Amino acid sequence: MPSTVREYQDAILKAKKEKGFAILAHTYQSPEIVEVADFTGDSFALSKKAMGITEKNVLMCGVRFMAETVKLLSPEKRVLLAAPDAGCPMAEQFVREEIEDYRADHPDVLVVCYVNTTTDLKRACDVCVTSASALDIMRKLPTDREILFIPDCNLGAYVQAAYPDRKITLWRGGCPVHAAISKEETVAAKAKHPTAKLLVHPECKPDVTALADYIGSTSGIMKYAAESDAKEFIIGTEISVVWHLSYRFPDTKFYPLSKNLVCRNMRLTSLPDVLAAVKGEGGEEIVLDEATMKEARVCIDKMIELG
Ligand code: SF4
Repeated sequence: MPSTVREYQDAILKAKKEKGFAILAHTYQSPEIVEVADFTGDSFALSKKAMGITEKNVLMCGVRFMAETVKLLSPEKRVLLAAPDAGCPMAEQFVREEIEDYRADHPDVLVVCYVNTTTDLKRACDVCVTSASALDIMRKLPTDREILFIPDCNLGAYVQAAYPDRKITLWRGGCPVHAAISKEETVAAKAKHPTAKLLVHPECKPDVTALADYIGSTSGIMKYAAESDAKEFIIGTEISVVWHLSYRFPDTKFYPLSKNLVCRNMRLTSLPDVLAAVKGEGGEEIVLDEATMKEARVCIDKMIELG
């Protein structure tokens, strides 16, 4: 049995080749997992990557809704989640019946859901968005319809601020990691690093994003940092992004906005989990029935059409 990081990584690379696996790692995974992945990125980018690969087996190192999204876009592939307990509290905040009840009272509503939702919830939604595409897709939706934007009220508030004339209804959902960051912490971080640019994710609260130099998705934050001439950044998203940027740009300083920006669910995947899954001894295969997949695909297909 392997006993070091390097030995685990070597065993994973060997087994994934023998068993015909592609490994997807969300950007919030730790560096030792990113190193064995075929692709790294945000959840929807990974799902699109999986559509174009030849491997029949796909292992998602991330949380459950991400593995489900891969399955929805590539139903012919065998998709496994490396750490079966890894969920996303935000994705599970609402259930389909709540949307259906709202629709019954508001028959003209358009339901827009963040990709961070369960497959079952997606069945009740009209259009899906990512944090990178939300503003653009909103621009393409009919202006005379009420929008119910779920589940993240902070991302929803960011969208509302860009379209102040639109009727956008928000519910009280959100990411417990990003939403926990306070304005006071943010002011303190800026005071500690006065020349650093503050880059934050729109899942943070509006009084935090109001202080930012840039608001964007994780991939947007990484792109901004890569293209900027600045040499110091405060990163207002999951702390792993600080690690990845620090590796890529060793001459630039990256500070976490808060040491509490840690998603415990993203930390659940370990190298032993990955090895067990690619050897056929662990992980969980994502199984969705055809009718569910067909209904849940509607809002994703609409996103692809509009995006
Ligand atoms: S960071 Fe937030 S939205 Fe992302 S998986 Fe963790 S809890 Fe869910």
